[in-house]
Amino acid sequence: MTKATGGEIPKAELKPDTKLATGGRNPHAHHGYVNTPVYHASTLLYRTAEDFLARRGQYFYGRRGTPTSEALALAIQELDGSACAGVALLPSGLGAISTALLSVVRTGDHVLITDNCYGPTRKFCDGVLARFGVTTTYFDPSIGGGIAALIQPNTRAVFTEAPGSLSFEMQDIPAIAEAAHARGALVLMDNTWASPLYFRALDKGVDLSIQSATKYIGGHSDLMMGTVSANGKAWPQLKEMAFSLGLCVGPDDMNMALRGLRTLGVRLARHHESGLKVARWLEQRPEILRVLHPGLPGDPGHAIWKRDFTGACGLFGVVFKPVPDTAINAFLNALTLYGMGASWGGFESLAIPFQLKDVRSATTWAPGGPCVRIHIGLEDTGDLIADLERGFAALVAAK
Ligand SMILES: *Cc1c(COP(=O)(O)O)cnc(C)c1O
Repeated sequence: MTKATGGEIPKAELKPDTKLATGGRNPHAHHGYVNTPVYHASTLLYRTAEDFLARRGQYFYGRRGTPTSEALALAIQELDGSACAGVALLPSGLGAISTALLSVVRTGDHVLITDNCYGPTRKFCDGVLARFGVTTTYFDPSIGGGIAALIQPNTRAVFTEAPGSLSFEMQDIPAIAEAAHARGALVLMDNTWASPLYFRALDKGVDLSIQSATKYIGGHSDLMMGTVSANGKAWPQLKEMAFSLGLCVGPDDMNMALRGLRTLGVRLARHHESGLKVARWLEQRPEILRVLHPGLPGDPGHAIWKRDFTGACGLFGVVFKPVPDTAINAFLNALTLYGMGASWGGFESLAIPFQLKDVRSATTWAPGGPCVRIHIGLEDTGDLIADLERGFAALVAAK
């Protein structure tokens, strides 16, 4: 990165919000324009046969990278900090997960996967990895350093996610990383919830940190993308795998991700604040048994969250006191500001029912009542709370 007026900026001194504004930009390499142009590119031409044969030049072919992909990868790399040796851009978060896993395993290997992983991660391990002779053991997310006991001589990777999808249990990532590294296994983490802004995964011992950029990097519910940030140990194989699979992202989508990144800091700060405010309000409601949010002092994961994370996003779970499903449906149907749909991380609030019956294999999930996952968007929290009050009135009337 070079200064907007020319000259190098000392990177190590920059705070995350500054990195978000400056990362991956080099205006004077592009006639002074603030943003890197969007290169729609496949073929790249050479002037001479000699240049072609020597592959002379910074770029080679659209699939292998353009100034646009480089700008985005660099911006994310700067955010992940000096431990990050490279960033792969993939067409979805799931693509980032599968590519990262494929980059570390070979036939005969074993992987340890957290029992609270994103559902399709489990499906990929049980389906594709199993078909290629890679075995999987699921582990209790609260295992911490106890992961050591599960590591076999052929265990290549430990896959973590904190807080976990839907159930929001925290994990002691530094303890897991220490135990894994002592036995020669790499550590992967799905870091979508916190992003590198609120959890510095690579600094905490993670070798491959995955984000569904579909969520907060995009931030507007109009983009599918995934990223994997790798340290020096994991980057060569990740790069090779991403290239070999032929995975690349369209230039307009990369431009949208770059645009989203610039405001990630202010958006996440607001999601953090509003999410906690609504979570605290929900905790006090007589209809609610428990709120699953590691930022709340009463949450079992709070101590780890406080120690390792610097913030929370707007996504959390709510466990209702037992009522018939029809009452939960009435609650959801009465909401006017919360959309019902998969994904999250956009500017808008969402609420969906969920249950994890028959999903877990290493632990049992017994929340004690019906569950709803809530995403708090950028709307006014007073309006969002008033809407939830309407939902509770409908729930009480329906039960
Ligand atoms: C949504 C999500 C993914 C998958 O991302 P896509 O971009 O939808 O493929 C992965 N991990 C977590 C935690 C997610 O919430």
